[in-house]
Amino acid sequence: MSIATTNPATGQVLKTYDPMSDEQVDAAIERADLAFRQLHGTTIAERGRWLIAAAELLEAERDETARLMTTEMGKTYAAARAEVTKCAAACRFYAAKAPEMLADEPADAGAVKAKRAYVRYQPIGPVLAVMPWNFPLWQVMRFAAPALMAGNTGLLKHASNVPQAALYLEDLFRRAGFPEGAFTTLLVGSEAVDRILSDPRVRAATLTGSEVAGRSIARIAGRELKKTVLELGGSDPFVVMPSADLDRAAEVATTARCQNNGQSCIAAKRFIVHTDAFDAFAEKFTTRMAALTVGDPMDEGTDVGPLATDRGRDEVHAQVRDAMDKGARVLCGGELPSGDGWYYPPTVVTDLRPEMRMWSEEVFGPVAGLFRVSSYEEAIEVANGTHFGLGSNAWTTDPAEQERFATDLDAGNVFLNGMTTSYPQLPFGGVKNSGYGRELSALGMREFCNIKTVWLGEGEVGPGAGAHSE
Ligand code: NAP
Repeated sequence: MSIATTNPATGQVLKTYDPMSDEQVDAAIERADLAFRQLHGTTIAERGRWLIAAAELLEAERDETARLMTTEMGKTYAAARAEVTKCAAACRFYAAKAPEMLADEPADAGAVKAKRAYVRYQPIGPVLAVMPWNFPLWQVMRFAAPALMAGNTGLLKHASNVPQAALYLEDLFRRAGFPEGAFTTLLVGSEAVDRILSDPRVRAATLTGSEVAGRSIARIAGRELKKTVLELGGSDPFVVMPSADLDRAAEVATTARCQNNGQSCIAAKRFIVHTDAFDAFAEKFTTRMAALTVGDPMDEGTDVGPLATDRGRDEVHAQVRDAMDKGARVLCGGELPSGDGWYYPPTVVTDLRPEMRMWSEEVFGPVAGLFRVSSYEEAIEVANGTHFGLGSNAWTTDPAEQERFATDLDAGNVFLNGMTTSYPQLPFGGVKNSGYGRELSALGMREFCNIKTVWLGEGEVGPGAGAHSE
């Protein structure tokens, strides 16, 4: 794959880059390793000041950065601006919270026969981040802000179609004050990942991307005995029960499916509706989906811009065609538009069956699958009947049912009467083939920390030490 910026709204190649050579990559890893040692001598307060400076730069440069993102991957300008603002907020959050997240955590010294015992959180070294294009700043920031605050260094291998966003991020952290090499963009294709992760100086990897990439990185990391966090795909359920406010549910469902032009891992993708609410919800939802404005992502009035790549659009259309050919009904959309740009209309498909690709695959575009169920139990069966388990949504005003959904939905999060969203304050991640590990909150920061036990005694050997020491 070439490393290039291609405007999805026109299909025009705007800028191409030569991939870095092995020698250039090695030099970058060396700098990351040196910067790690340098960061070791800095305080949390110092790193916090750099992160605040990064937030200030993001805020000051919001509009031009958003324009760059829209040009590279087609998200609407409004969504791009919101993404920049969210990145700045995450920097501020970690700058403020890191002192308590990284503070020594006292343990019960008496119970472990110590004068004092505690847990200390320490950085582990250079971490490789392999990232996707769909939120070109946010996906990186939710790794980078906590990792840098903890004192790790970052090596970014961003998706090959967002090189300018990748370079912007390196520049941002450098200008914010982080030492040279603390955060480096490696302009390389995915074939370089094996070599980078095999380097003994690289201590761990985080990937946000597809299952295929996840399996590949997990294999390499397994061979090299390195820690990984994997944030992979999803086909999130959005369950609607009869007690729900159907107008509000249909409105939120439309946003939940079509945000980021339908290209979000945590977009609601399967709408599972109780039969008593099905017809009314289907009508309201389809009307809203069909009314969305598809067009130039720079226009303020646009709801849905183009998909990021022509390959991605072909894949989405092939999934819809497959369902249609096997008997599914299209309630709106489903037709490939002519003309420039990789646009795809908001589409609702129903009467899905297990032999159709849309039943089990993730659809990475503004296409909703609509399922009819006749009970709570069947809703759970359909919702959990996937190899994914990233986010989930359920709409019900019945408190007992809300409790049951919170327990029974097999996913990394459950959003009740709302849509799945990531917040710096809450852990984010999946189960099953959606990956493992968590980002964000204190838990995300600690994924790349050495969780070190410190035990202080007076030289004695505790009773039972022979039996229990390993
Ligand atoms: P992708 O093909 O897996 O690409 C993501 C990143 O992985 C890119 O940097 C890509 O590099 C690299 N990559 C691809 N194949 C690789 C391999 N075999 N070994 C090492 N690296 C590899 O993903 P995508 O299709 O562009 O992005 C969409 C996917 O990401 C969807 O499945 C979506 O659900 C998922 N996603 C998950 C989350 C989450 O938080 N769970 C968030 C956003 C997106 P190149 O660009 O050079 O190929």
